[in-house]
Amino acid sequence: MTKPHPYPGPAVELPLDDWLYEAKPREGCPQCAAALVELEAAKKSRNASDRFDAARKIRQCKHGRSG
Ligand SMILES: [Zn+2]
Repeated sequence: MTKPHPYPGPAVELPLDDWLYEAKPREGCPQCAAALVELEAAKKSRNASDRFDAARKIRQCKHGRSG
């Protein structure tokens, strides 16, 4: 017994706000550089969750300063 799918077709890619992914890495900061690598990788693999996570890391980065 088969039922028709109520939502046929491929998954729709939701347009997420750009600010979620906005990141301003500081030049020379190793933490930013590492997060930027993650960000680019997530962008390529179209992994929105990882991408947001990496962008957030950069936004919250203290750029080597303690505290
Ligand atoms: Zn940083």
